[in-house]
Amino acid sequence: MSELVRARVEDHLVRLRMGHVAQRIDAMLSEAARGEPTYLDFLDGLLREEIDSKQRKRVQMGLTIAHFPQARTLEDFDFHFQPSVDQRLVKELSTGRFISLSDNVLIFGPPGVGKTHLAIALGRAVVEAGHTVLFTSATALITGLSKAETEGKLGEQLSFLAKPKLLIVDELGYLPFERRSAHLFFQLVARRYERGSILITTNQSVSQWGTVFGDDVLAAAILDRLLHHSHTLTIQGESYRLRQKKRAGLLGRAAKPQETEA
Ligand code: ADP
Ligand code: MG
Repeated sequence: MSELVRARVEDHLVRLRMGHVAQRIDAMLSEAARGEPTYLDFLDGLLREEIDSKQRKRVQMGLTIAHFPQARTLEDFDFHFQPSVDQRLVKELSTGRFISLSDNVLIFGPPGVGKTHLAIALGRAVVEAGHTVLFTSATALITGLSKAETEGKLGEQLSFLAKPKLLIVDELGYLPFERRSAHLFFQLVARRYERGSILITTNQSVSQWGTVFGDDVLAAAILDRLLHHSHTLTIQGESYRLRQKKRAGLLGRAAKPQETEA
């Protein structure tokens, strides 16, 4: 009889889409027999396990969809090395609250100071908070938009890029845009304006954006929309990559033989 009930419980769990508990039910029952929790505690633990498992799967799926180029987290960002980073603001952004307001985030700074690291880490935190994210480099973004335009599918591509709650555009400004590309970028920003957040990392200060987009008026129109509801992080400091190289003795003072040996 109990075998029958056991099989029926598993069947119910599967039909309720509680797959994790369905797999773990025997182990959970044995643990309960040993620990003798109250009925309420047993039910509480069982539901918690299923919820945790579903959350892990959702985050895993969200990270796959986001297409982050590397795994980076806020925990492995060394804030002491980069004191110019507003840690309080990073913490606030990591809650994902800015997403519900469709606020934008701009991260400024020279190469190697951790802009991409912070963009990925914040993107990950936003996925964990339950929102959809898509990461792309500025170059890949423009290549995709131009290709779509040539193929007569610009509308579709803009809709695709408008969908995620957060669109991360990395490395804006490393290469100046051609006129047509700058206009495509404007269309994207206009499309998402007040509807979805954009996070941009760039090595160019706002005053240089006219050069980046090859047109002061277009740059002003883009900036106007991006900055209207926005948070900015400006990183001024030494490149983390160069510091690591210096430590390894590949650059600077450490190049002297006696110091390299020391
Ligand atoms: P940027 O995008 O500003 O050029 P990255 O984010 O690519 O710089 O950083 C270069 C490398 O250094 C990456 O591997 C990154 O994880 C690491 N890094 C940069 N800043 C920090 C930091 N403050 N703490 C830990 N790792 C860092
Ligand atoms: Mg970068």
